[in-house]
Amino acid sequence: MKADLKKYNTVIIGGGASGLMCACRLAYNGISDIAVLERNPKAGKKLLMTGNGRCNLTNDDLDVSLYNTDNREVLENLISKYPVSVTKVFFERVLNIALVSKNGLVYPRTLKGITVLEAMLYYLKDHGVEIITDMEVSNISQGFVINDSINADNVVIAGGGASYPKTGSDGSSYKLISAFSGKDDMVPVYPSLVQLNIRESDIRKLSGERINCKVTLVIDRQEVASETGEMLFTDYGVSGICIMQLSGIFNRYRKAGIKTVSVVVDMFPDMNEEDLRSEVERRGGSLKGLLLSEISDVVLSRNGDVVKNLKSFELTITGTRDLDSAQVTGGGLKLSALTEGMMLKDLPGLYVTGEAVNVDGPCGGYNLQWAWSSAFSCADDIAGRSL
Ligand SMILES: Cc1cc2nc3c(=O)[nH]c(=O)nc-3n(C[C@H](O)[C@H](O)[C@H](O)COP(=O)(O)OP(=O)(O)OC[C@H]3O[C@@H](n4cnc5c(N)ncnc54)[C@H](O)[C@@H]3O)c2cc1C
Repeated sequence: MKADLKKYNTVIIGGGASGLMCACRLAYNGISDIAVLERNPKAGKKLLMTGNGRCNLTNDDLDVSLYNTDNREVLENLISKYPVSVTKVFFERVLNIALVSKNGLVYPRTLKGITVLEAMLYYLKDHGVEIITDMEVSNISQGFVINDSINADNVVIAGGGASYPKTGSDGSSYKLISAFSGKDDMVPVYPSLVQLNIRESDIRKLSGERINCKVTLVIDRQEVASETGEMLFTDYGVSGICIMQLSGIFNRYRKAGIKTVSVVVDMFPDMNEEDLRSEVERRGGSLKGLLLSEISDVVLSRNGDVVKNLKSFELTITGTRDLDSAQVTGGGLKLSALTEGMMLKDLPGLYVTGEAVNVDGPCGGYNLQWAWSSAFSCADDIAGRSL
């Protein structure tokens, strides 16, 4: 080892959700000499965008079966060891952030992500953790030596996935990991929680319009999943939380080589077909006052029975938007390549947490909960090996 290398117990690569939480938990565990290396001028850029700036940090009704992963058993063990209750206690009692739940979705009481980021940064400063910004990590050599200038007993790769690359998580985690992992340890990445491209051109003129509806994903004529909520028409297709939720499922089926896939939109989920027919007949066949006129024009221009079209407005999916617009990255380092403490098997001291790992979940706090749980597990493992 070169004598002039700066030496730490643990270096965390990436000052995002999982990296900052890992540092907080290490400090809480009494570990000193920790540094977080962040390529951006400030830590937590993506965290501030979450939940439309409100940071939906977990979910009271979390259902582990809704995550995608290659190793369900390890995921279930890990989430049951570090469940939502552990996250909430850490935020409320250790970081002193008051929380609020809205229909099971948990936010800081201020409804501002900045409250979460500031509390974590304050805790880290108070515990002497160094946050080194404007530092992009490009190599880690055995030992561990980072960028030929920093030495660490433990390295945590918490550089995120490849979605929203302008936030700093541009897929560089995978390059750093692949210097140590086996060639079969990586699941190719794909956009998850993403908008859908639609073939039908008649909806292009609805771009910017929103509708509360029920959307059903239909694959090879089978109804696969449904979501209810606000859907946004765009110039390429459709967006909105209900669409993003279905996109993850669509992507899983797409990999299995499906043929025809559509979303069927029920524009009146609160009325059955018979009641809707009576309502439309009472209005002499006009949809005025029932629907935005732009949307009703498109429905009326389609062939077939109007009421059936209102209840089953079919949109053919041609694909999804790419990683630039996806909220989460699917794929990444296989969970099965890691111990339950998030350490690469047979490589003591090298850890991976958060979105860089092949675990992704639906909207509603699932992905941040994974960032927190994986960070807790990693930090406790490091503490167990260090103390
Ligand atoms: C618009 C949007 C809204 C979202 N809303 C929610 C929500 O409400 N609830 C929810 O649960 N999830 C949400 N997510 C998903 C959630 O933000 C991510 O899953 C989570 O941030 C992943 O945490 P992470 O620490 O793994 O990665 P990130 O938060 O992406 O952090 C990785 C950090 O590492 C840094 N980095 C990367 N490579 C290097 C390198 N080589 N050297 C140094 N630094 C590096 C990056 O700059 C970044 O700061 C949302 C995502 C987006 C894009």
